[in-house]
Amino acid sequence: MKSSNNIIQFPATQPDCVLCGSKEVTTREEEISFPMSNRGKEETLHIDIPVHQCKECDFEFTGPDAAKLQHDAVCRFLNVMTPSEVREIREKSGLTQSKFAEVTGIGIASINRWEKGGVIQNPAMDNFLFLTGIPENLNALSTRRQKSSNVISFKQKFPAIEGDVNKINEKRKLFKLQG
Ligand SMILES: [Zn+2]
Repeated sequence: MKSSNNIIQFPATQPDCVLCGSKEVTTREEEISFPMSNRGKEETLHIDIPVHQCKECDFEFTGPDAAKLQHDAVCRFLNVMTPSEVREIREKSGLTQSKFAEVTGIGIASINRWEKGGVIQNPAMDNFLFLTGIPENLNALSTRRQKSSNVISFKQKFPAIEGDVNKINEKRKLFKLQG
């Protein structure tokens, strides 16, 4: 089955030849296929990618746009959002990556990798990201974070207490009121 939901705009970015540097490069669309399997689901993905060919030295190469199309196809196969969709969700919220990380508790490095396509988020994280796309949910999370940052930790509250707080707590458990 040929997937038809890949939209390539031609001419895509026309790069210089990566081998000889010539600007005489043509671009054509070529179908590639690769098998995927995940949790018993097997499928051969077919996608059209732009392939560049140098007129001077005949060298053929693909660029970042082809890599992005492959990555997006894999995301669709796994039924999770593509990197652009992840970025869109965050951008709609008006938050920077670091603010979004702060509100959701997701590491900024993970957010950055998902948006750049370095790593694909697992289905649970994908669901969580999807839910943050609903403003009410993000607001609720934001309020919750603000509340928890107001809670003073045991150590901060009693700065004069030296030593390991866990050990002190252990001792506190041993203390019993005489009835
Ligand atoms: Zn060349």
